Amino acid sequence: MNPVLSSLRARQLSGVRCRTCARLLRREKRSFATASGAGDPEGDPEIYDVVCVGGGPAGLSLLAALRSHPTTSRLRLALIETQSLTPLRTFAPQPDSYSNRCSSLTPASVGFLDGIGAWRHVRRERVMSYGGMRVWDGVSGESIGFDVDGGGGGVEGVKEEREGTEGSNGGVVAYMNENVNLTSALLRRIEELGGVDILEGEKVEDIAFGEDTPTADLTSWPVITTSSGTRLAARLLVGADGANSPVRTFAGIESRGWDYNRVGLVATLKLSGPGWGGEGKKIAYQRFLPTGPVAMLPLPGNMSTLVWSTTPALAARLKSLSPEDFCAMVNAAFRLRTPDLKFLHTIEGGQKDEVSWRETHTKFSREQVPQDVVAVQPGSIASFPLKFRHADSYISQRIALVGDAAHSVHPLAGQGLNQGQGDVEALTQNIIYNVEHGADIGTRMNLEGYGKERYWRNHVLMGVVDKLHKLYATENLGVVRVRSLGLGIVDRLEGVKGWVMRRAAGERGLF
Ligand SMILES: Cc1cc2nc3c(=O)[nH]c(=O)nc-3n(C[C@H](O)[C@H](O)[C@H](O)COP(=O)(O)OP(=O)(O)OC[C@H]3O[C@@H](n4cnc5c(N)ncnc54)[C@H](O)[C@@H]3O)c2cc1C
Repeated sequence: MNPVLSSLRARQLSGVRCRTCARLLRREKRSFATASGAGDPEGDPEIYDVVCVGGGPAGLSLLAALRSHPTTSRLRLALIETQSLTPLRTFAPQPDSYSNRCSSLTPASVGFLDGIGAWRHVRRERVMSYGGMRVWDGVSGESIGFDVDGGGGGVEGVKEEREGTEGSNGGVVAYMNENVNLTSALLRRIEELGGVDILEGEKVEDIAFGEDTPTADLTSWPVITTSSGTRLAARLLVGADGANSPVRTFAGIESRGWDYNRVGLVATLKLSGPGWGGEGKKIAYQRFLPTGPVAMLPLPGNMSTLVWSTTPALAARLKSLSPEDFCAMVNAAFRLRTPDLKFLHTIEGGQKDEVSWRETHTKFSREQVPQDVVAVQPGSIASFPLKFRHADSYISQRIALVGDAAHSVHPLAGQGLNQGQGDVEALTQNIIYNVEHGADIGTRMNLEGYGKERYWRNHVLMGVVDKLHKLYATENLGVVRVRSLGLGIVDRLEGVKGWVMRRAAGERGLF
């Protein structure tokens, strides 16, 4: 590289941005890359402002957010994702078939996704909003009802026209959506904006600090080598690479926590009757059983998505059942008493007849439970181990973690993906601020604001979710009495319920 270009590159590396320099450097980089051969492990790495490892909901949101903001739209961005993104590009689902990986998106997350131009790419006919929740204790039967309009008050954040419903947010607690519907929308938004170098089907093989080359001092810069041998140097390396984050490992950041010895059993279900698309407000149901909560959440039409947290052994038994017996067990989980459920888990088959007989001898109100499950979508039953993990820090020199790379939480409050969206929003704001002030976006000092804001907010929420799991994972009579009393009192305190509801809907504030 000639001395002029060398000094331009040095200026660029020290954070100085100038369009002419960038153009000259781009031209030089192209010729340099051609001469040394892109992907040549011996050549200088390609230099990026942000390299994001992981193309899940968190990573794709970050790239879409950076590209869509005028201040950050000129940053040089790259994505490395192990899996092929072709299924996201060609996402053309059958109308009556749904992925078993669904997440409830809070109005705050949807507001953010809308702001970065991604929400309009989501297939809206596959999203179902709900405006209330019924949560109850599987041992004592004590329950609490949440209703955005009634008990919770309005939730700011989602524009009226977004769902075509009434009220400040259409009375929405959350939007149930397939993860693939979200990620394919985010990828569409990124490709619409252009300007992100996407390395898909490539794994991060190695991350090491760079060298002091004649053209640039990369000694404090992470240099990522992918499985194809491509090398990328990052001013800021973002780990959006999930719970086993290689970026977090490289940064030497500990992630602490425990395994719950529980799995989240998921399935796509078909309900009797008009389903959730019928008259009236859509409600999500969650019953706390001693083995873990079972939740049924609305999808369009008469479809529903199940998240049943239970022990690995009971999940294995459920998976081995015939579709009819599996559906009977799901119905039983919302209706029958816990001793009945315990017995039903011990038999190898015949649950369907056993449940219908036991239902006739059990007192429950049909208005208080989800509609009958009549079928399970073939191939949709799966399970995922549940754990609590929190990284000691979200940042390090030239490193930031977002999403599950930073935290994994029990799904009982449906917050994991939403926390990731909160991280991305905060990190984007942090990068915008640094670019606007001519600061280096990758130094630890300049990332501090992001790390502090998100760590504590997530920490509080994760603590609450973990305690809820533990509180309900016991049949001890004293504990059951106290928790039922507490639930009954909260159910009568509309102000407290409103506060809980607003937190569940993602309103920023106290957490
Ligand atoms: C049963 C269940 C139900 C849930 N329900 C909800 C809910 O209702 N609401 C909610 O908010 N959250 C929910 N969650 C949590 C939510 O699914 C996760 O928090 C979210 O998917 C995490 O997104 P992410 O982008 O951070 O990580 P991931 O989705 O794990 O994405 C990480 C990406 O990184 C890639 N990657 C990994 N390693 C490498 C590498 N070495 N090189 C390149 N790429 C790599 C992976 O291929 C992947 O695409 C639920 C979770 C479970 C298990």
